[in-house]
Amino acid sequence: MSDIRHDRVHGSHVIIAPERLHRPHCYGVEEKGEITREEHCPFCEGNESMTPPEIFSIREKDSLPNEKGWKTRVVPNLYKAVQIEAPYEHHYGFFERWEGFGAHELIIDTPEHHTSITQWSERAVVQWLQTLRARVSDLRKDERIAYISLFKNEGSEAGASQHHCHTQLIGLPIVPKLLRERYQRSFTYYKDKSCALLESEIEQEEASNERIVAKHGDFTAYCPYASAYPFEVIISSKKALGQIDTLHDEKIAEVAPLLLDILKNMKKQLGCFTFNLSISTPPLQVKDFEYDILTHRDEMCRFSIRIMPRLYHMAGFEVSTGIMINPVAPEHAAKLLRESKNG
Ligand SMILES: [Zn+2]
Ligand SMILES: [Zn+2]
Repeated sequence: MSDIRHDRVHGSHVIIAPERLHRPHCYGVEEKGEITREEHCPFCEGNESMTPPEIFSIREKDSLPNEKGWKTRVVPNLYKAVQIEAPYEHHYGFFERWEGFGAHELIIDTPEHHTSITQWSERAVVQWLQTLRARVSDLRKDERIAYISLFKNEGSEAGASQHHCHTQLIGLPIVPKLLRERYQRSFTYYKDKSCALLESEIEQEEASNERIVAKHGDFTAYCPYASAYPFEVIISSKKALGQIDTLHDEKIAEVAPLLLDILKNMKKQLGCFTFNLSISTPPLQVKDFEYDILTHRDEMCRFSIRIMPRLYHMAGFEVSTGIMINPVAPEHAAKLLRESKNG
């Protein structure tokens, strides 16, 4: 069982999770010996019995749960950082902690043994986003969950311990410091300007046009002005289109090909690169905030996807100051990503 411990000095939380120690080959050496044979991959179609029973799936009409015929599958993570069965309990004192309560789900993105999003069809990207939408809208109903983190790691450098494409969902009883601060800034900005922070950022980016990579429908992809990672890309919209749990099918159909295009362009520029991808998810509880963040959620916060290529290791400076050193100017990255579209 894990613990969510509060760090008084840094104002953040740490999850102490002994079960994570048992993750398959996560310490480098065996990492080179990739699982390529599908009979050994627990995420491949036909190996459904190698995972815990599914929580959700998109599957063919006549197929049965935990059997072949699926497009995406969601299962509990075997190597849980937190678990939904743990008591929802906060312990006060100098050393403050939560029991390791939360949701930790694993989304198996495709039935085929794909190891990169760049191998997916547009249809697969659509079904993946629909799956995330279904899981977040279901978990939102659990009032104990204050924040849901949605992310994927591609490549072992980025922290992936399974090669078969998958996404992780972690729901917590607390809002992480970084996100609490991020959303607080969005609310403060909205209160001052009656406009979402990301809406203004995209307006400014479009006006200067230096860092725009591509557009499709309501969505704009750009390398942000203060990119923390080389070739970092954000995909978002000026319009309020809802969040991952409320995004309409037609908007999913708009963002999917854009995301796929961007990742393919990145691959052309960077070769096989490793990255983290996160999908924005505003907090689900009002406590800890100055404003009612739930009522005006969509006006204040834009749905966004952030792609963070991990070309360099974080070192002492980054870890101790929170200031990232990025050797690639976003203007340069955006230019290369635009050019590779036509090459
Ligand atoms: Zn591996
Ligand atoms: Zn596989």
